[in-house]
Amino acid sequence: MAQEERRAIEALLARHGFHLSKARGQNFLIDRETPARIAAASGADARTGVLEIGPGVGALSSELCRRAGRAVAVELDRGLLPILNETMAAFDNFEVVSADVLRLDLAALARERFAGLTPIVCANLPYNITTPVLTAILEARCFASVTVLIQREVAQRLCAAPGTAAYGAFSVYLQYHAEPALCFEVPPERFLPPPKVTSAVLRAVTRREPPVAVADEALFFRTVNAAFALRRKTLVNSLMTAFGALGKARLTELVVSCGLPADVRGERLGLSEFARLAAALGEAEA
Ligand code: SAM
Repeated sequence: MAQEERRAIEALLARHGFHLSKARGQNFLIDRETPARIAAASGADARTGVLEIGPGVGALSSELCRRAGRAVAVELDRGLLPILNETMAAFDNFEVVSADVLRLDLAALARERFAGLTPIVCANLPYNITTPVLTAILEARCFASVTVLIQREVAQRLCAAPGTAAYGAFSVYLQYHAEPALCFEVPPERFLPPPKVTSAVLRAVTRREPPVAVADEALFFRTVNAAFALRRKTLVNSLMTAFGALGKARLTELVVSCGLPADVRGERLGLSEFARLAAALGEAEA
């Protein structure tokens, strides 16, 4: 069956003279089941407006249109527009925006296109822009949830707990803004062409309120980034990369004043410990 579905997509692309681009992360889903599962996992329904990033030939788009009030898909590759015109012709709740998602004001797009609906995101992302796209979605602060197919390792990192090897600055960033969960894995043979890695669907429900009290978000994330800057070193040494002006002795005092061991490593800290540390650093710098 997968062979038949692969051949049907290859024939569609050939008929339009379209060649897949590796640089644009074009690994298209070829089976019917995976897009349906992703769309179902997103929770899209008649009250939601779904932003899709990179519709490709519309495999996921059609599943989203079946469920959502409206779907708007941002596609960078203009060569896919005539194909989408054909594959999505049956859906009157679908619109393509021909643009680079990283250059769009996503909050404005959601406001204009999804009036009266709850905006959510659902996409099989181009893997090379996973981090900037997720950042832009969270910064827009208007999407109730984000359901994305990404590299499994990246998905695991985003859900990782403090003290694990996978936990890093971007895990803290995502977990500050949202509650992520891994949904299911997708093997390489479900794509055309198959990527070298296994993929996974991550669903993150964005938080209405931050999970910890943070007076200065910029300082909070400066603290988090500094804590992970030198992964093999202690937190104090790592903090020296951004707060060196305070000196090592003062930084050690501050870390201990937050109830942490002087030789703790940055990856041990959870959100509340980072919040406490950022507040202490802010006071020391004032
Ligand atoms: N949704 C389709 C599917 O699941 O079969 C295609 C997913 S494919 C992994 C990624 C899609 O994102 C491609 O259609 C690619 O052209 C598009 N894309 C790549 N970079 C983009 C960008 N910066 N802005 C918008 N779309 C982009």
